[in-house]
Amino acid sequence: MRIDTHVHSNVSDGTDTPTRLVRKAAEQGVDVIGLTDHDTFDGLREAKLAATEAGIEALPGIEISCQADGQSVHLLGYGCDPHFEPLLDELARVRVGRTGRLPDMLAKLASLGMPLTEDDVLHQVGGSPSVGRPHVADALVAKGYVADRQEAFDKLLYDGGPAYSHRYSMDIRLGIELVRQANGVPVLAHPWGRGREHVLTPPVLTELTLEYRLEGVEVDHPDHDEATRAELRPLADRLGLLAFGSSDHHGLGKVDHELACNTTAPDVYDELLRRVRARGGHL
Ligand code: AMP
Ligand code: FE
Ligand code: FE
Ligand code: ZN
Repeated sequence: MRIDTHVHSNVSDGTDTPTRLVRKAAEQGVDVIGLTDHDTFDGLREAKLAATEAGIEALPGIEISCQADGQSVHLLGYGCDPHFEPLLDELARVRVGRTGRLPDMLAKLASLGMPLTEDDVLHQVGGSPSVGRPHVADALVAKGYVADRQEAFDKLLYDGGPAYSHRYSMDIRLGIELVRQANGVPVLAHPWGRGREHVLTPPVLTELTLEYRLEGVEVDHPDHDEATRAELRPLADRLGLLAFGSSDHHGLGKVDHELACNTTAPDVYDELLRRVRARGGHL
């Protein structure tokens, strides 16, 4: 069984439609594909249909933009009720905040000698209900200002970077509570990638688990090197957290994130399904 529990379609910042993503997974021998678009459930119906047609399993998920101590952290939710109003309200706030900061980012880019119009960016958005930094990055590439998405992030768009603009995100504790109230299973995405180990420290992970009932963490993820995985795995074990593995595939939007380059163990996946079913979640 090859199980990839965290991938993005063009309903957020990936480059493949949910259908194309599922077909690609089936062609490549992936048995389970967990679609986890940023801050939206919009792609899940299409993914489910495509998976039934392709003869593989679609795991319904979401990746929620949260913060811990003002730093951006990501929470995966599996099996959430996609109609649970309090979660939908928070997701709408995140998406509105993301799209709303666009003029500020464009003004910063113009002052750096890289003018873009809103239309230039909207041209890159595909089916996404919010306009994120990856779409701004794609517009910069299309104009020839940078070579690829990564260069746009490394030089301009990284958190606190010269063209960065802050946006709303919910506290990670609220995120975990909302996922649980929506009958879903909360799992921290790449907790120790890109400097997040400084905010998601072992004491914080312990608090999130014991007081907020976080249920899993990603251990095998492209943003975690071998040493990081070797340190995180035993901590997850001690806390009784399920340890996930994923590609965080974004289509052409991210290199070295090929489908199923990391995978989740079948027994972890089975336990996840058991928990979602036990609480009447959405599969
Ligand atoms: P936004 O929600 O608009 O702030 O954009 C966040 C998204 O941009 C993340 O979900 C990632 O896909 C991508 N991203 C954030 N930081 C980086 C980075 N340093 N390098 C590449 N992609 C990044
Ligand atoms: Fe992304
Ligand atoms: Fe993420
Ligand atoms: Zn992701």
